[in-house]
Amino acid sequence: MSKFETLGLDKPLLDAISDLGFETPSEVQEKSIPILLEQETDLVALAQTGTGKTAAFGFPMIQKIQAESRTTQGLILSPTRELCLQITNELKLYSKYVKGLNTVAIYGGASITDQARQIKRGAQIVVATPGRMKDMIGRGMVDISKIDYCVLDEADEMLNMGFYEDIKDILSNTPEEKFTWLFSATMPKEVGSIAKKFMRKPVEITVGTKNAGVSTVQHEYYLVGGRDRYPALKRLADANPGIFSVIFCRTKRDTQRVAEKLIEDGYNAGALHGDLSQNQRDLVMNSFRKKQVQMLVATDVAARGIDVDDITHVINYQLPDEIETYTHRSGRTGRAGKSGISMVIVTRSETRKIKAIEKKIKQDFISKKIPTGIEICEIQLYHLANRIKETEVNTEIDNYLPAINDVLDGLDREELIKKIVSVEFTRFYNYYSKTRDLNSTEGSRDRGERGSKSDAPSNGSVRYFINVGERDGYDWMSLKDFLRETLNLEKEDVFNVDTKDSFSFFNSDAQHTEFILQTFTEFKVNGRFINVEVSKDPGGARKGRNRDRKRGHRKGGDGGYRKGGDTKSFRGGKKGGSGRRGGKKKPGFY
Ligand code: ADP
Ligand code: MG
Repeated sequence: MSKFETLGLDKPLLDAISDLGFETPSEVQEKSIPILLEQETDLVALAQTGTGKTAAFGFPMIQKIQAESRTTQGLILSPTRELCLQITNELKLYSKYVKGLNTVAIYGGASITDQARQIKRGAQIVVATPGRMKDMIGRGMVDISKIDYCVLDEADEMLNMGFYEDIKDILSNTPEEKFTWLFSATMPKEVGSIAKKFMRKPVEITVGTKNAGVSTVQHEYYLVGGRDRYPALKRLADANPGIFSVIFCRTKRDTQRVAEKLIEDGYNAGALHGDLSQNQRDLVMNSFRKKQVQMLVATDVAARGIDVDDITHVINYQLPDEIETYTHRSGRTGRAGKSGISMVIVTRSETRKIKAIEKKIKQDFISKKIPTGIEICEIQLYHLANRIKETEVNTEIDNYLPAINDVLDGLDREELIKKIVSVEFTRFYNYYSKTRDLNSTEGSRDRGERGSKSDAPSNGSVRYFINVGERDGYDWMSLKDFLRETLNLEKEDVFNVDTKDSFSFFNSDAQHTEFILQTFTEFKVNGRFINVEVSKDPGGARKGRNRDRKRGHRKGGDGGYRKGGDTKSFRGGKKGGSGRRGGKKKPGFY
Protein backbone atom coordinates (compact mmCIF):
# COMPACT_ATOMS: atom_id res chain seq x y z
CA MET A 1 0.00 0.00 0.00
CA SER A 2 1.40 3.31 -0.99
CA LYS A 3 1.55 5.94 1.66
CA PHE A 4 -0.53 8.24 -0.52
CA GLU A 5 -3.55 6.23 0.59
CA THR A 6 -3.11 7.28 4.17
CA LEU A 7 -3.40 10.96 3.24
CA GLY A 8 -7.12 10.76 2.51
CA LEU A 9 -7.01 10.80 -1.27
CA ASP A 10 -9.78 9.14 -3.29
CA LYS A 11 -9.38 6.37 -5.81
CA PRO A 12 -9.30 8.44 -9.01
CA LEU A 13 -6.34 10.35 -7.65
CA LEU A 14 -4.63 7.28 -6.25
CA ASP A 15 -4.94 5.58 -9.62
CA ALA A 16 -3.44 8.56 -11.35
CA ILE A 17 -0.65 8.69 -8.78
CA SER A 18 0.14 5.08 -9.41
CA ASP A 19 0.18 5.72 -13.17
CA LEU A 20 2.62 8.56 -12.56
CA GLY A 21 4.84 6.21 -10.62
CA PHE A 22 4.94 8.35 -7.49
CA GLU A 23 5.59 5.92 -4.68
CA THR A 24 5.78 7.98 -1.55
CA PRO A 25 4.58 11.48 -0.88
CA SER A 26 7.22 14.14 -0.52
CA GLU A 27 7.43 15.99 2.76
CA VAL A 28 5.47 19.02 1.62
CA GLN A 29 2.80 16.71 0.21
CA GLU A 30 2.64 14.67 3.37
CA LYS A 31 2.21 17.80 5.43
CA SER A 32 -0.18 19.79 3.25
CA ILE A 33 -2.51 17.25 1.69
CA PRO A 34 -4.26 16.02 4.88
CA ILE A 35 -4.69 19.56 6.16
CA LEU A 36 -6.10 20.86 2.90
CA LEU A 37 -8.42 17.87 2.52
CA GLU A 38 -9.76 17.95 6.05
CA GLN A 39 -9.84 21.60 6.91
CA GLU A 40 -11.24 24.63 5.19
CA THR A 41 -8.29 26.86 5.88
CA ASP A 42 -5.74 29.23 4.45
CA LEU A 43 -2.25 27.84 4.21
CA VAL A 44 1.29 29.08 3.83
CA ALA A 45 3.73 26.39 2.75
CA LEU A 46 7.45 26.97 2.37
CA ALA A 47 9.35 24.41 0.40
CA GLN A 48 12.22 24.44 -2.03
CA THR A 49 11.89 24.12 -5.76
CA GLY A 50 11.54 20.52 -6.83
CA THR A 51 9.87 19.28 -3.67
CA GLY A 52 6.54 18.48 -5.31
CA LYS A 53 4.50 21.53 -4.41
CA THR A 54 2.24 21.20 -7.46
CA ALA A 55 0.79 17.96 -6.17
CA ALA A 56 0.69 19.33 -2.62
CA PHE A 57 -2.00 21.79 -3.68
CA GLY A 58 -3.12 20.02 -6.84
CA PHE A 59 -4.33 16.78 -5.28
CA PRO A 60 -6.50 18.44 -2.62
CA MET A 61 -7.87 20.97 -5.09
CA ILE A 62 -8.84 18.31 -7.59
CA GLN A 63 -10.50 16.25 -4.89
CA LYS A 64 -12.45 19.14 -3.43
CA ILE A 65 -13.72 20.61 -6.65
CA GLN A 66 -17.16 19.69 -7.98
CA ALA A 67 -16.41 18.29 -11.40
CA GLU A 68 -20.15 18.14 -12.24
CA SER A 69 -20.42 21.89 -12.03
CA ARG A 70 -18.84 23.92 -14.76
CA THR A 71 -18.24 26.94 -12.57
CA THR A 72 -14.64 28.04 -12.10
CA GLN A 73 -13.84 26.99 -8.55
CA GLY A 74 -10.10 27.00 -8.35
CA LEU A 75 -7.59 29.64 -9.44
CA ILE A 76 -3.87 29.09 -9.47
CA LEU A 77 -1.62 32.07 -10.05
CA SER A 78 1.93 31.40 -11.07
CA PRO A 79 4.70 33.75 -12.16
CA THR A 80 5.54 32.61 -15.67
CA ARG A 81 4.01 31.13 -18.73
CA GLU A 82 6.36 28.17 -18.43
CA LEU A 83 5.23 27.35 -14.93
CA CYS A 84 1.65 27.95 -15.87
CA LEU A 85 1.87 25.33 -18.60
CA GLN A 86 3.74 22.90 -16.38
CA ILE A 87 1.21 23.15 -13.61
CA THR A 88 -1.63 22.72 -16.09
CA ASN A 89 -0.02 19.64 -17.58
CA GLU A 90 0.61 18.16 -14.15
CA LEU A 91 -2.96 18.83 -13.04
CA LYS A 92 -4.28 17.18 -16.18
CA LEU A 93 -2.25 14.09 -15.39
CA TYR A 94 -3.40 14.08 -11.78
CA SER A 95 -7.06 14.41 -12.76
CA LYS A 96 -7.10 12.00 -15.65
CA TYR A 97 -9.61 9.72 -13.88
CA VAL A 98 -11.82 12.55 -12.68
CA LYS A 99 -14.61 12.78 -15.25
CA GLY A 100 -15.54 16.20 -16.50
CA LEU A 101 -12.75 18.13 -14.79
CA ASN A 102 -11.21 20.76 -16.99
CA THR A 103 -8.06 22.69 -16.29
CA VAL A 104 -7.25 25.63 -18.53
CA ALA A 105 -4.05 27.63 -18.71
CA ILE A 106 -4.10 31.34 -19.46
CA TYR A 107 -0.89 33.24 -20.03
CA GLY A 108 0.52 36.01 -22.17
CA GLY A 109 2.07 35.58 -25.58
CA ALA A 110 -0.71 33.37 -26.94
CA SER A 111 -4.12 34.08 -28.44
CA ILE A 112 -6.39 35.56 -25.83
CA THR A 113 -9.51 34.64 -27.80
CA ASP A 114 -8.48 30.99 -27.91
CA GLN A 115 -7.99 31.04 -24.19
CA ALA A 116 -11.33 32.78 -23.64
CA ARG A 117 -12.99 30.10 -25.77
CA GLN A 118 -11.48 27.35 -23.63
CA ILE A 119 -12.67 29.05 -20.47
CA LYS A 120 -16.14 29.40 -21.95
CA ARG A 121 -16.36 25.66 -22.50
CA GLY A 122 -16.07 25.29 -18.76
CA ALA A 123 -12.94 25.32 -16.64
CA GLN A 124 -13.27 24.35 -13.02
CA ILE A 125 -9.59 25.11 -12.54
CA VAL A 126 -7.82 28.05 -14.14
CA VAL A 127 -4.04 28.31 -14.02
CA ALA A 128 -2.89 31.80 -14.88
CA THR A 129 -0.09 34.29 -14.99
CA PRO A 130 -1.10 37.52 -13.22
CA GLY A 131 -0.77 39.81 -16.24
CA ARG A 132 -2.98 37.82 -18.60
CA MET A 133 -5.44 37.07 -15.81
CA LYS A 134 -5.94 40.74 -15.11
CA ASP A 135 -6.36 41.42 -18.78
CA MET A 136 -9.04 38.75 -19.16
CA ILE A 137 -10.92 39.86 -16.07
CA GLY A 138 -10.92 43.38 -17.51
CA ARG A 139 -12.43 42.10 -20.73
CA GLY A 140 -14.98 39.98 -18.98
CA MET A 141 -13.53 36.82 -20.44
CA VAL A 142 -13.22 34.96 -17.18
CA ASP A 143 -15.31 34.89 -14.04
CA ILE A 144 -13.55 34.17 -10.78
CA SER A 145 -16.23 35.57 -8.53
CA LYS A 146 -17.26 32.14 -7.34
CA ILE A 147 -13.96 30.46 -6.66
CA ASP A 148 -13.47 28.47 -3.48
CA TYR A 149 -9.73 28.06 -3.66
CA CYS A 150 -6.95 30.30 -4.76
CA VAL A 151 -3.34 29.18 -4.95
CA LEU A 152 -0.47 31.65 -5.08
CA ASP A 153 2.30 29.45 -6.40
CA GLU A 154 5.90 30.60 -6.21
CA ALA A 155 4.66 33.65 -4.38
CA ASP A 156 8.16 34.97 -3.80
CA GLU A 157 8.90 34.86 -7.50
CA MET A 158 5.64 36.59 -8.39
CA LEU A 159 6.47 39.40 -6.02
CA ASN A 160 10.03 39.52 -7.28
CA MET A 161 8.67 40.04 -10.73
CA GLY A 162 6.54 42.93 -9.61
CA PHE A 163 3.14 41.28 -9.71
CA TYR A 164 2.00 42.61 -6.36
CA GLU A 165 -0.48 45.11 -7.81
CA ASP A 166 -1.82 42.62 -10.32
CA ILE A 167 -2.35 40.02 -7.62
CA LYS A 168 -4.15 42.55 -5.48
CA ASP A 169 -6.41 43.47 -8.40
CA ILE A 170 -7.12 39.86 -9.22
CA LEU A 171 -7.92 38.95 -5.65
CA SER A 172 -10.35 41.85 -5.41
CA ASN A 173 -12.41 40.01 -8.03
CA THR A 174 -12.63 36.87 -5.91
CA PRO A 175 -15.11 36.24 -3.10
CA GLU A 176 -14.23 37.01 0.50
CA GLU A 177 -15.09 33.53 1.66
CA LYS A 178 -12.56 31.50 -0.22
CA PHE A 179 -9.39 29.77 0.90
CA THR A 180 -5.99 30.88 -0.15
CA TRP A 181 -3.02 28.57 -0.29
CA LEU A 182 0.33 30.23 -0.69
CA PHE A 183 3.37 28.25 -1.80
CA SER A 184 6.81 29.70 -1.86
CA ALA A 185 10.41 28.60 -1.81
CA THR A 186 11.48 31.49 0.38
CA MET A 187 9.81 33.80 2.84
CA PRO A 188 10.95 37.34 2.25
CA LYS A 189 9.10 40.15 4.04
CA GLU A 190 6.93 40.80 1.00
CA VAL A 191 5.50 37.32 1.08
CA GLY A 192 4.83 37.71 4.77
CA SER A 193 2.90 40.87 4.14
CA ILE A 194 0.84 39.25 1.38
CA ALA A 195 -0.02 36.48 3.80
CA LYS A 196 -1.05 39.06 6.35
CA LYS A 197 -3.08 41.13 3.97
CA PHE A 198 -4.92 38.49 2.01
CA MET A 199 -5.12 35.50 4.32
CA ARG A 200 -6.87 34.61 7.53
CA LYS A 201 -4.97 32.67 10.16
CA PRO A 202 -3.11 30.55 7.68
CA VAL A 203 -1.75 27.21 8.82
CA GLU A 204 1.99 27.33 8.29
CA ILE A 205 4.10 24.53 6.97
CA THR A 206 7.84 24.60 6.51
CA VAL A 207 9.69 21.85 4.80
CA GLY A 208 13.33 21.48 5.71
CA THR A 209 14.95 24.55 7.14
CA LYS A 210 13.55 27.78 5.89
CA ASN A 211 15.29 28.80 2.69
CA ALA A 212 17.56 25.80 2.86
CA GLY A 213 18.95 24.45 -0.37
CA VAL A 214 18.05 21.02 -1.62
CA SER A 215 20.30 18.50 0.05
CA THR A 216 20.85 16.46 -3.09
CA VAL A 217 22.78 19.34 -4.54
CA GLN A 218 26.52 19.52 -4.12
CA HIS A 219 27.88 23.04 -4.02
CA GLU A 220 31.29 23.76 -5.50
CA TYR A 221 33.25 26.89 -6.10
CA TYR A 222 36.13 27.64 -8.42
CA LEU A 223 38.44 30.53 -7.73
CA VAL A 224 39.66 32.27 -10.86
CA GLY A 225 40.90 35.62 -12.01
CA GLY A 226 38.22 38.11 -13.01
CA ARG A 227 39.03 37.84 -16.68
CA ASP A 228 39.05 34.08 -16.67
CA ARG A 229 35.37 33.50 -16.05
CA TYR A 230 34.63 32.59 -19.61
CA PRO A 231 37.58 30.24 -20.22
CA ALA A 232 36.81 28.69 -16.83
CA LEU A 233 33.22 28.12 -17.88
CA LYS A 234 34.38 26.40 -21.03
CA ARG A 235 36.67 24.11 -19.11
CA LEU A 236 33.93 23.18 -16.69
CA ALA A 237 31.79 22.26 -19.65
CA ASP A 238 34.56 20.33 -21.36
CA ALA A 239 35.38 18.45 -18.17
CA ASN A 240 31.75 17.32 -17.99
CA PRO A 241 30.97 15.99 -21.44
CA GLY A 242 27.41 14.93 -20.62
CA ILE A 243 26.57 18.29 -19.11
CA PHE A 244 22.97 19.51 -19.23
CA SER A 245 23.04 22.82 -17.49
CA VAL A 246 21.67 26.22 -16.73
CA ILE A 247 24.27 28.97 -16.56
CA PHE A 248 23.27 32.03 -14.63
CA CYS A 249 24.45 35.53 -15.44
CA ARG A 250 23.45 38.71 -13.74
CA THR A 251 22.38 40.82 -16.64
CA LYS A 252 20.60 40.27 -19.92
CA ARG A 253 23.64 41.60 -21.71
CA ASP A 254 26.03 39.16 -20.10
CA THR A 255 23.57 36.36 -20.69
CA GLN A 256 23.40 37.13 -24.39
CA ARG A 257 27.13 37.62 -24.64
CA VAL A 258 28.09 34.39 -22.90
CA ALA A 259 25.56 32.41 -24.92
CA GLU A 260 26.81 33.92 -28.16
CA LYS A 261 30.41 33.13 -27.29
CA LEU A 262 29.57 29.57 -26.40
CA ILE A 263 27.73 29.11 -29.66
CA GLU A 264 30.61 30.69 -31.53
CA ASP A 265 32.94 28.27 -29.79
CA GLY A 266 30.88 25.34 -30.94
CA TYR A 267 28.80 24.47 -27.89
CA ASN A 268 25.12 23.62 -27.94
CA ALA A 269 24.13 26.72 -26.06
CA GLY A 270 21.16 29.05 -25.98
CA ALA A 271 20.18 32.29 -24.27
CA LEU A 272 17.07 32.90 -22.22
CA HIS A 273 16.33 36.43 -21.08
CA GLY A 274 13.67 39.08 -21.09
CA ASP A 275 14.80 40.88 -24.22
CA LEU A 276 13.88 37.91 -26.36
CA SER A 277 10.43 37.59 -27.85
CA GLN A 278 8.09 34.99 -26.46
CA ASN A 279 8.58 33.02 -29.63
CA GLN A 280 12.36 33.02 -29.26
CA ARG A 281 12.08 31.97 -25.66
CA ASP A 282 9.77 29.13 -26.58
CA LEU A 283 12.19 27.91 -29.21
CA VAL A 284 15.09 27.91 -26.80
CA MET A 285 13.09 26.18 -24.08
CA ASN A 286 11.90 23.53 -26.50
CA SER A 287 15.43 22.82 -27.65
CA PHE A 288 16.56 22.73 -24.05
CA ARG A 289 13.87 20.23 -23.09
CA LYS A 290 14.90 18.05 -25.99
CA LYS A 291 18.47 18.45 -24.83
CA GLN A 292 19.49 19.89 -28.17
CA VAL A 293 20.63 22.81 -26.09
CA GLN A 294 23.02 21.52 -23.45
CA MET A 295 23.92 24.84 -21.91
CA LEU A 296 21.13 27.29 -21.31
CA VAL A 297 22.45 30.69 -20.34
CA ALA A 298 19.79 32.55 -18.42
CA THR A 299 18.98 35.52 -16.23
CA ASP A 300 17.36 34.83 -12.90
CA VAL A 301 14.04 36.27 -13.95
CA ALA A 302 13.83 34.33 -17.19
CA ALA A 303 14.92 31.09 -15.53
CA ARG A 304 12.08 31.20 -13.07
CA GLY A 305 9.88 29.17 -15.29
CA ILE A 306 12.35 26.43 -15.94
CA ASP A 307 11.09 23.19 -14.56
CA VAL A 308 13.20 20.65 -16.32
CA ASP A 309 14.28 17.59 -14.42
CA ASP A 310 17.66 16.03 -15.13
CA ILE A 311 19.62 19.27 -15.08
CA THR A 312 23.05 18.01 -14.10
CA HIS A 313 24.75 21.31 -13.36
CA VAL A 314 23.82 24.79 -12.41
CA ILE A 315 26.70 27.12 -13.12
CA ASN A 316 26.82 30.50 -11.46
CA TYR A 317 28.84 32.42 -14.02
CA GLN A 318 28.47 35.32 -11.64
CA LEU A 319 27.06 35.20 -8.16
CA PRO A 320 23.71 36.89 -7.66
CA ASP A 321 23.39 39.93 -5.42
CA GLU A 322 20.86 38.26 -3.18
CA ILE A 323 21.67 35.06 -1.37
CA GLU A 324 18.07 33.96 -1.73
CA THR A 325 18.53 34.04 -5.48
CA TYR A 326 21.32 31.52 -5.12
CA THR A 327 18.96 29.02 -3.52
CA HIS A 328 16.59 29.47 -6.44
CA ARG A 329 19.38 28.91 -8.89
CA SER A 330 20.80 25.81 -7.29
CA GLY A 331 17.28 24.47 -6.87
CA ARG A 332 17.08 24.02 -10.64
CA THR A 333 19.25 20.96 -10.31
CA GLY A 334 18.91 18.00 -7.96
CA ARG A 335 15.22 17.81 -8.66
CA ALA A 336 12.89 14.87 -8.20
CA GLY A 337 15.31 12.92 -6.08
CA LYS A 338 18.20 13.20 -8.50
CA SER A 339 21.53 14.63 -7.51
CA GLY A 340 22.98 17.74 -9.01
CA ILE A 341 25.93 20.07 -8.81
CA SER A 342 25.83 23.79 -8.36
CA MET A 343 29.08 25.38 -9.44
CA VAL A 344 30.13 28.90 -8.70
CA ILE A 345 32.86 30.73 -10.55
CA VAL A 346 34.26 33.31 -8.15
CA THR A 347 37.05 35.79 -7.95
CA ARG A 348 39.00 36.26 -4.79
CA SER A 349 37.04 39.29 -3.69
CA GLU A 350 33.81 37.29 -3.85
CA THR A 351 34.85 34.49 -1.53
CA ARG A 352 33.12 36.28 1.35
CA LYS A 353 29.86 35.70 -0.42
CA ILE A 354 30.49 31.99 -0.45
CA LYS A 355 30.73 32.03 3.33
CA ALA A 356 27.44 33.92 3.55
CA ILE A 357 25.73 31.44 1.26
CA GLU A 358 27.07 28.49 3.23
CA LYS A 359 25.50 29.94 6.32
CA LYS A 360 22.21 30.42 4.59
CA ILE A 361 21.95 27.03 2.95
CA LYS A 362 23.52 25.29 5.92
CA GLN A 363 25.75 23.36 3.62
CA ASP A 364 29.43 23.68 2.88
CA PHE A 365 30.89 24.45 -0.48
CA ILE A 366 33.66 22.30 -1.82
CA SER A 367 36.57 24.30 -3.13
CA LYS A 368 37.50 22.82 -6.48
CA LYS A 369 40.13 23.46 -9.10
CA ILE A 370 39.39 24.29 -12.69
CA PRO A 371 40.68 21.22 -14.52
CA THR A 372 43.93 21.63 -16.36
CA GLY A 373 44.12 21.18 -20.10
CA ILE A 374 45.63 17.72 -19.70
CA GLU A 375 42.95 16.62 -17.27
CA ILE A 376 40.31 17.69 -19.73
CA CYS A 377 42.05 15.80 -22.50
CA GLU A 378 41.97 12.67 -20.38
CA ILE A 379 38.31 13.06 -19.53
CA GLN A 380 37.46 13.63 -23.17
CA LEU A 381 39.50 10.65 -24.22
CA TYR A 382 37.62 8.26 -21.95
CA HIS A 383 34.38 9.86 -22.90
CA LEU A 384 35.20 9.31 -26.54
CA ALA A 385 36.11 5.68 -25.93
CA ASN A 386 32.82 5.16 -24.15
CA ARG A 387 30.91 6.83 -26.89
CA ILE A 388 32.50 4.58 -29.45
CA LYS A 389 31.61 1.58 -27.33
CA GLU A 390 28.01 2.64 -26.92
CA THR A 391 27.37 3.88 -30.42
CA GLU A 392 24.72 1.92 -32.20
CA VAL A 393 26.09 0.56 -35.42
CA ASN A 394 24.53 2.03 -38.50
CA THR A 395 23.80 -0.93 -40.75
CA GLU A 396 23.99 1.25 -43.84
CA ILE A 397 27.72 0.99 -43.38
CA ASP A 398 27.57 -2.72 -44.28
CA ASN A 399 27.34 -1.84 -47.95
CA TYR A 400 30.54 0.12 -47.82
CA LEU A 401 32.38 -2.27 -45.56
CA PRO A 402 34.33 -4.08 -48.26
CA ALA A 403 35.59 -0.78 -49.61
CA ILE A 404 36.43 0.52 -46.15
CA ASN A 405 38.23 -2.72 -45.40
CA ASP A 406 40.30 -2.22 -48.50
CA VAL A 407 41.31 1.25 -47.36
CA LEU A 408 42.16 0.18 -43.82
CA ASP A 409 43.81 -3.05 -44.83
CA GLY A 410 46.95 -3.80 -42.90
CA LEU A 411 46.14 -1.82 -39.76
CA ASP A 412 45.98 -3.98 -36.66
CA ARG A 413 43.43 -3.45 -33.93
CA GLU A 414 45.61 -1.28 -31.74
CA GLU A 415 46.66 0.94 -34.56
CA LEU A 416 43.09 1.26 -35.72
CA ILE A 417 41.89 2.29 -32.27
CA LYS A 418 44.62 4.88 -31.99
CA LYS A 419 43.72 6.33 -35.31
CA ILE A 420 39.97 6.40 -34.72
CA VAL A 421 40.39 8.10 -31.38
CA SER A 422 42.88 10.54 -32.81
CA VAL A 423 40.42 11.71 -35.43
CA GLU A 424 38.43 13.33 -32.69
CA PHE A 425 40.99 13.75 -29.97
CA THR A 426 43.89 15.48 -31.66
CA ARG A 427 41.94 18.65 -32.09
CA PHE A 428 41.24 18.69 -28.40
CA TYR A 429 44.76 17.84 -27.51
CA ASN A 430 46.30 20.46 -29.71
CA TYR A 431 44.10 23.03 -28.18
CA TYR A 432 44.38 22.14 -24.55
CA SER A 433 47.84 20.70 -24.13
CA LYS A 434 49.47 24.09 -24.01
CA THR A 435 46.98 26.10 -22.00
CA ARG A 436 47.72 27.56 -18.63
CA ASP A 437 46.31 26.94 -15.19
CA LEU A 438 43.27 29.11 -14.56
CA ASN A 439 43.08 28.68 -10.83
CA SER A 440 43.59 31.65 -8.65
CA THR A 441 45.22 30.87 -5.32
CA GLU A 442 43.33 31.76 -2.23
CA GLY A 443 44.79 34.12 0.31
CA SER A 444 48.38 33.90 -0.81
CA ARG A 445 50.18 36.29 -3.05
CA ASP A 446 51.39 33.45 -5.19
CA ARG A 447 49.77 34.08 -8.50
CA GLY A 448 49.32 30.58 -9.70
CA GLU A 449 47.68 31.58 -12.91
CA ARG A 450 50.66 33.59 -14.01
CA GLY A 451 52.27 30.22 -14.13
CA SER A 452 55.86 31.29 -14.56
CA LYS A 453 57.04 32.87 -11.39
CA SER A 454 60.25 30.92 -11.46
CA ASP A 455 61.27 31.83 -14.97
CA ALA A 456 60.45 35.50 -14.69
CA PRO A 457 62.60 37.10 -12.07
CA SER A 458 61.64 40.52 -10.94
CA ASN A 459 63.53 43.16 -12.87
CA GLY A 460 62.48 46.15 -10.85
CA SER A 461 59.53 48.35 -11.68
CA VAL A 462 58.35 49.98 -14.87
CA ARG A 463 56.50 53.27 -15.13
CA TYR A 464 53.62 53.46 -17.55
CA PHE A 465 51.64 56.17 -19.21
CA ILE A 466 47.88 55.70 -19.61
CA ASN A 467 45.61 58.01 -21.59
CA VAL A 468 42.91 58.49 -18.97
CA GLY A 469 42.93 60.86 -16.07
CA GLU A 470 40.90 63.04 -13.76
CA ARG A 471 38.83 64.36 -16.62
CA ASP A 472 37.54 60.81 -17.03
CA GLY A 473 36.48 60.66 -13.43
CA TYR A 474 39.52 58.94 -11.96
CA ASP A 475 41.49 59.70 -8.89
CA TRP A 476 44.56 57.65 -8.04
CA MET A 477 42.52 55.17 -6.01
CA SER A 478 39.87 54.47 -8.58
CA LEU A 479 42.44 54.23 -11.34
CA LYS A 480 44.40 51.76 -9.27
CA ASP A 481 41.21 49.73 -8.79
CA PHE A 482 40.51 49.83 -12.49
CA LEU A 483 44.03 48.67 -13.34
CA ARG A 484 44.04 45.96 -10.77
CA GLU A 485 40.72 44.59 -11.91
CA THR A 486 41.47 44.84 -15.58
CA LEU A 487 44.89 43.29 -15.20
CA ASN A 488 43.84 40.93 -12.45
CA LEU A 489 46.80 42.00 -10.38
CA GLU A 490 47.28 42.28 -6.66
CA LYS A 491 46.96 45.60 -4.89
CA GLU A 492 50.69 45.78 -4.36
CA ASP A 493 51.39 45.05 -8.01
CA VAL A 494 50.16 48.46 -9.12
CA PHE A 495 51.70 51.44 -7.36
CA ASN A 496 52.72 55.08 -7.62
CA VAL A 497 49.51 55.86 -9.43
CA ASP A 498 49.59 59.50 -10.37
CA THR A 499 46.57 61.01 -12.10
CA LYS A 500 46.78 64.14 -14.21
CA ASP A 501 43.99 65.90 -16.04
CA SER A 502 43.79 63.81 -19.21
CA PHE A 503 46.39 61.13 -18.57
CA SER A 504 48.08 59.33 -15.72
CA PHE A 505 51.10 57.29 -14.70
CA PHE A 506 51.50 54.15 -12.73
CA ASN A 507 54.15 51.61 -11.87
CA SER A 508 54.23 47.89 -11.93
CA ASP A 509 56.78 45.15 -11.64
CA ALA A 510 58.82 44.65 -14.81
CA GLN A 511 57.73 41.06 -15.08
CA HIS A 512 54.22 42.25 -15.94
CA THR A 513 55.24 44.57 -18.75
CA GLU A 514 54.53 42.39 -21.70
CA PHE A 515 51.23 41.37 -20.27
CA ILE A 516 50.15 44.88 -19.41
CA LEU A 517 51.01 46.20 -22.84
CA GLN A 518 49.26 43.34 -24.49
CA THR A 519 46.16 43.71 -22.37
CA PHE A 520 45.87 47.32 -23.39
CA THR A 521 46.38 46.67 -27.06
CA GLU A 522 43.23 47.67 -28.86
CA PHE A 523 41.54 47.81 -25.53
CA LYS A 524 38.27 49.69 -25.59
CA VAL A 525 35.81 50.75 -22.96
CA ASN A 526 32.53 52.05 -24.29
CA GLY A 527 33.99 52.57 -27.70
CA ARG A 528 36.97 54.50 -26.44
CA PHE A 529 40.49 53.20 -26.81
CA ILE A 530 42.51 53.01 -23.65
CA ASN A 531 46.16 53.11 -24.37
CA VAL A 532 49.10 52.23 -22.15
CA GLU A 533 52.73 52.83 -22.98
CA VAL A 534 55.97 52.47 -21.12
CA SER A 535 56.69 55.94 -19.88
CA LYS A 536 59.79 57.79 -21.03
CA ASP A 537 60.16 58.75 -17.40
CA PRO A 538 63.21 57.60 -15.50
CA GLY A 539 62.84 54.19 -13.93
CA GLY A 540 62.01 52.66 -17.30
CA ALA A 541 62.16 48.99 -17.66
CA ARG A 542 63.65 46.03 -19.31
CA LYS A 543 61.05 43.67 -20.54
CA GLY A 544 60.77 40.14 -19.22
CA ARG A 545 61.69 38.50 -22.47
CA ASN A 546 60.54 35.02 -21.74
CA ARG A 547 56.99 36.25 -21.18
CA ASP A 548 56.27 36.32 -24.88
CA ARG A 549 55.59 32.68 -25.33
CA LYS A 550 53.44 32.37 -22.26
CA ARG A 551 51.33 35.34 -23.13
CA GLY A 552 50.79 34.02 -26.58
CA HIS A 553 49.08 30.99 -25.15
CA ARG A 554 47.25 33.05 -22.70
CA LYS A 555 45.53 35.04 -25.35
CA GLY A 556 44.87 32.24 -27.73
CA GLY A 557 44.41 30.04 -24.74
CA ASP A 558 40.80 29.33 -24.17
CA GLY A 559 39.41 31.21 -27.09
CA GLY A 560 37.76 28.25 -28.74
CA TYR A 561 39.34 25.03 -29.77
CA ARG A 562 36.26 24.06 -31.69
CA LYS A 563 37.00 26.79 -34.10
CA GLY A 564 40.72 26.51 -33.99
CA GLY A 565 41.52 28.91 -31.20
CA ASP A 566 39.83 32.11 -32.16
CA THR A 567 41.17 34.80 -29.91
CA LYS A 568 38.69 37.55 -30.61
CA SER A 569 36.03 36.37 -28.25
CA PHE A 570 38.44 36.35 -25.35
CA ARG A 571 39.09 40.01 -25.87
CA GLY A 572 35.39 40.65 -25.83
CA GLY A 573 35.16 39.01 -22.48
CA LYS A 574 37.78 41.25 -21.06
CA LYS A 575 35.94 44.31 -22.15
CA GLY A 576 32.77 43.06 -20.62
CA GLY A 577 34.57 42.23 -17.45
CA SER A 578 36.09 45.61 -17.00
CA GLY A 579 32.88 47.37 -17.87
CA ARG A 580 31.15 46.34 -14.67
CA ARG A 581 32.84 47.88 -11.76
CA GLY A 582 30.41 47.68 -8.93
CA GLY A 583 29.21 51.25 -8.97
CA LYS A 584 31.59 53.06 -6.70
CA LYS A 585 33.97 55.65 -8.06
CA LYS A 586 32.67 55.34 -11.55
CA PRO A 587 34.90 56.92 -14.14
CA GLY A 588 33.08 59.33 -16.40
CA PHE A 589 33.11 57.39 -19.61
CA TYR A 590 31.37 54.28 -18.31
P1 ADP B 1 7.98 22.27 -7.07
O1 ADP B 1 6.71 22.93 -7.50
O2 ADP B 1 8.07 22.11 -5.59
O3 ADP B 1 9.18 22.92 -7.64
P2 ADP B 1 7.04 20.13 -8.69
O4 ADP B 1 5.66 20.04 -8.17
O5 ADP B 1 7.21 20.82 -9.99
O6 ADP B 1 7.99 20.79 -7.62
O7 ADP B 1 7.64 18.66 -8.73
C1 ADP B 1 8.92 18.37 -9.20
C2 ADP B 1 8.96 17.03 -9.89
O8 ADP B 1 8.78 15.97 -8.95
C3 ADP B 1 7.86 16.85 -10.94
O9 ADP B 1 8.44 16.24 -12.07
C4 ADP B 1 6.87 15.94 -10.27
O10 ADP B 1 6.17 15.17 -11.22
C5 ADP B 1 7.76 15.10 -9.38
N1 ADP B 1 7.07 14.62 -8.15
C6 ADP B 1 6.20 15.30 -7.38
N2 ADP B 1 5.81 14.57 -6.34
C7 ADP B 1 6.45 13.39 -6.43
C8 ADP B 1 6.45 12.18 -5.61
N3 ADP B 1 5.73 12.08 -4.51
N4 ADP B 1 7.23 11.16 -6.03
C9 ADP B 1 7.96 11.27 -7.14
N5 ADP B 1 8.02 12.37 -7.95
C10 ADP B 1 7.26 13.41 -7.59
MG1 MG C 1 6.17 24.53 -8.50
